[in-house]
Amino acid sequence: MSQKVNIFSNRYNLTEDIKKIVINELKKHDFVINEEYDETADFNIVIGGDGTFIKAIHDSNFSEIPFIGINTGHLGFYNDVKHTDVLDAIEKIRNKDFIEIDLRVIDCIVNTDNDKHIFKSINELVLKTKYTEAIHFDLFVDDVLLQKFAGDGIIFSTPSGSTAYNLSAGGAILFQNIDAFQITPLAPIRSTLHRSLDKSLIVPKDTIIKLITSKPEESYFAFGVDGLHKEIEHINNIEIKLSDKRIKKIIFDKNWFWKNITEKFIM
Ligand code: NAD
Repeated sequence: MSQKVNIFSNRYNLTEDIKKIVINELKKHDFVINEEYDETADFNIVIGGDGTFIKAIHDSNFSEIPFIGINTGHLGFYNDVKHTDVLDAIEKIRNKDFIEIDLRVIDCIVNTDNDKHIFKSINELVLKTKYTEAIHFDLFVDDVLLQKFAGDGIIFSTPSGSTAYNLSAGGAILFQNIDAFQITPLAPIRSTLHRSLDKSLIVPKDTIIKLITSKPEESYFAFGVDGLHKEIEHINNIEIKLSDKRIKKIIFDKNWFWKNITEKFIM
């Protein structure tokens, strides 16, 4: 039976050119290309940069269909197939010569006075105040009050997102699919008044982080959900944990992660 493919792409000229090559090659080998997202497809192919890959995950509501990333952007951390190697990658897909890895997702539930908001992130969830003042909240780890945080903000990063904003903020790099997530402070205040932790914490799966705001005037936060800006007011508490949901990503080289680190962050 023919295999079905969903294609996600941005609108850059290079992407359009590569998309034509990919579609021609897939059709030549009896793949069916879906113009619209089909939840019964076998693969989600994303052509673009990291932003396109992240958008495809959100647009498909964290699809369970395996994602393949073809890079026509700049860094292409997730889009590991070079655009010059697409024919080789399609050959490997046909021969089932690939590895499927699971990427972790973060769940965030925001409870306000009269509402509930739920976000999922493949990279990270960032919390800041709406304006430029310091953010304040109590941070509980599994019901233990770990700290009263004050600073610019805080990042909750997945392992695969650890090389993004988290890394710029001084966090550690976590291997792509470790069952853990990372909490990295942004300009934490350390004084006799505020004793915010100035180091990242790495917590295991099943850990539940709860943030509680104590004063109404401090309960208006800005959220960065994989870079997408949202604002919520009248927040009572926020819960963050690793999701049961995972993203399946296809890689063609078992050393993808380490090669990515050396090629994109060190060399
Ligand atoms: P963007 O164009 O603003 O991306 C910024 C850079 O992050 C790009 O070079 C992108 O390739 C890279 N990137 C994205 N995910 C990555 C990952 N998992 N590992 C390594 N690099 C990664 O916007 P975008 O492409 O839509 O990416 C959104 C991400 O941008 C957010 O999830 C956040 O991590 C990142 N960001 C970083 C900073 C910072 O480092 N100071 C600030 C805001 C947002």
